[in-house]
Amino acid sequence: MIIEKINDFYLTKKEERERTHFYITDSGKCPRAVFFQFKKFPKKEDDPLFLRKMHQGDHVHMRTMGVLLSLGVVKAVEVEIPQQEIINGRADAILSINSEPYVLEIKSVNNYKFNNLSEPEEDHYKQIQLYMHYFKINKGIVLYENKDNQELKEFKIDYDPGLVEFVLYRMKELKKDIENNNLPKIPEQIMSGPESWRCSYCPYIESCLKESEKEGDFRNMERIKLILKER
Ligand code: SF4
Repeated sequence: MIIEKINDFYLTKKEERERTHFYITDSGKCPRAVFFQFKKFPKKEDDPLFLRKMHQGDHVHMRTMGVLLSLGVVKAVEVEIPQQEIINGRADAILSINSEPYVLEIKSVNNYKFNNLSEPEEDHYKQIQLYMHYFKINKGIVLYENKDNQELKEFKIDYDPGLVEFVLYRMKELKKDIENNNLPKIPEQIMSGPESWRCSYCPYIESCLKESEKEGDFRNMERIKLILKER
């Protein structure tokens, strides 16, 4: 009855947009998955539950931002990075604390992730580094809220120009691959390293398998078949 209508609302609201540029959030993703998204390869249908969770994250942002505005530490909200050829993005806020500027990123995570956070997640770290780079601000804060009990954790970050250079180099290489229609190779940290978890959540896993069959990439075929079997 009403649940179906709510689910339909989320599914129709989330229409696939034409990709013409990268977002800051692409910086930590599998390059092959980003390629599939640009080229509109078939993907797993969105899950309304996942979309509702994302929506809940928007409320965490609004509530936290409301408090920070009341505290008078916010210089700007939802700040677009300056126009350039490669990436678009919008930082949650720029703060001024003791007269020093900070880029702020707010993230909401589940209880398990929250309790295991002793440093920012790598994707979030890369994102805030890019914001600091484009805003020319040397300090940042990643603020996490536990979705289950509203506990908070914050991590102060210093600008790391070496990491930014590496991330931008990777994104420029991916841009070339997309323009030349070259399917990127699977990074080793995803193929067999600490980021192999990405494939279990990847909406393009079936497309990745099909392309691996065409490439004759038996190693990836076996790996993906196993993931699909365990799903
Ligand atoms: S299945 Fe894994 S390797 Fe393939 S596109 Fe998705 S994340 Fe990348």
